[in-house]
Amino acid sequence: MTVREGSLEAPTRHALDWQAPDFYDAEKVFAELQRVFGICHGCRRCVSLCTAFPRLFDLIDEGKTGELDGVDRASFQEVVDRCYLCDVCYMTKCPYVPPHQWNVDFPHLMLRAKAVKFKQGGTSLRDKLLSSTDALGRLATIPVVVRFVNAANRAPVARAVMGKVLGVHKDRVLPAYAGAKFRSTAQPDASFTVRDGKNTPGKVAIFSTCYVNYNEPGIGHDLLKILAHNEIPAVIVGKEACCGMPKLELGDLEAVARLKEINVPRLAKLARDGYAIMSAIPSCTLMFKQELLLMFPQDADVNAVQEAMFDPFEYLVLRNKDALLKIDFKRPLGKVSYHIPCHSRVQNVGQKTRELLQLVPGTEINTVERCSGHDGTWGVKSEFFEQSMKIGRPVFKQMAATDPDYISSDCPIAGRHIQQGMGETRAQKEHPLTLIRIAYGL
Ligand code: SF4
Ligand code: SF4
Repeated sequence: MTVREGSLEAPTRHALDWQAPDFYDAEKVFAELQRVFGICHGCRRCVSLCTAFPRLFDLIDEGKTGELDGVDRASFQEVVDRCYLCDVCYMTKCPYVPPHQWNVDFPHLMLRAKAVKFKQGGTSLRDKLLSSTDALGRLATIPVVVRFVNAANRAPVARAVMGKVLGVHKDRVLPAYAGAKFRSTAQPDASFTVRDGKNTPGKVAIFSTCYVNYNEPGIGHDLLKILAHNEIPAVIVGKEACCGMPKLELGDLEAVARLKEINVPRLAKLARDGYAIMSAIPSCTLMFKQELLLMFPQDADVNAVQEAMFDPFEYLVLRNKDALLKIDFKRPLGKVSYHIPCHSRVQNVGQKTRELLQLVPGTEINTVERCSGHDGTWGVKSEFFEQSMKIGRPVFKQMAATDPDYISSDCPIAGRHIQQGMGETRAQKEHPLTLIRIAYGL
């Protein structure tokens, strides 16, 4: 039988068989790790994507035999822990993804190995805490607590203690918690007439996300202003929980299922009522567009939500195609260095943010499409902070190359990481939605 180099068919992704009895079988997972690591050893295309692949290849090259059989079984976990499930290797590099007979899905194999570790109780309290974004946000934004938390995040002594006790790197710039949460201050305007376009529903429901709700409510307010300017009726999704992405990244699939039970019925109702659903955080959007569907492929509600879910810029560009978007921009943005985060890239919608920013007169975009190396909580951890800065270095350089007026990323966490990596800069960091609000003169 001939084994083709790469596949001629379009890639397909198999559902994650997380409820099958074999899924958590450590021996079977180890055998699959050996099989896929062996293929990667012979291929090595992904060496520059993250630190998981270089670690794997170093373990092999520096091992007793120079082959995979010279690597200790225990060391496999070092590769798994370095993967932050950005999906870029699967979506952009690997020629052996299904339907190729080798059936390589590196991120899903890493996720399965993380799930086994979680089930066996190997996940640290620090990782469980950091992935509880909703609970942390609720606690940190209690009026008296918020000032203390923000002050502690900036104080070197407190950060040294946090480093020791919590394993949060002392040099990582952390986001401040907001005094006024997005969900309690948002004023969506649902009074406009619904105008459905050929490509876009004429009304929008906003899934706030933990990050916008607790850390940067301004991004959510800017989205509301943009929608109101375009006379698009908007509502905020009633009662929401975390999208589940941080728990997915930890391998805590039962927690993902519990969060899905809270969010999806409500979102499915909105989808069936004709709303476009959107979130301003690419990872949360991706959770509803892709990850939940891979975990619950037969669930009608999950499918309905997936079909109604939009990235905000995907929606706005399609709205423009429907001739229903105002392009009466009043203020030029100058030089913008714009970064496309991995979780936007793997949504496969093209560079929609860049397309819309380019419609603003007097605006020059420097687009950087490469992993910045932060991920949600990965780059915050003491043991991964240095690696995260190292992965980001080419991005920091490319973002600074044009001496921009603004630096911007659809992922505000990546944006802050890039700003930290760039060091001294005159550039202002703003989310792309904020840039569009500024350009409209709102
Ligand atoms: S999913 Fe991302 S972090 Fe994980 S191995 Fe692939 S490229 Fe690296
Ligand atoms: S994931 Fe695919 S492309 Fe990347 S190193 Fe492994 S086999 Fe090669």
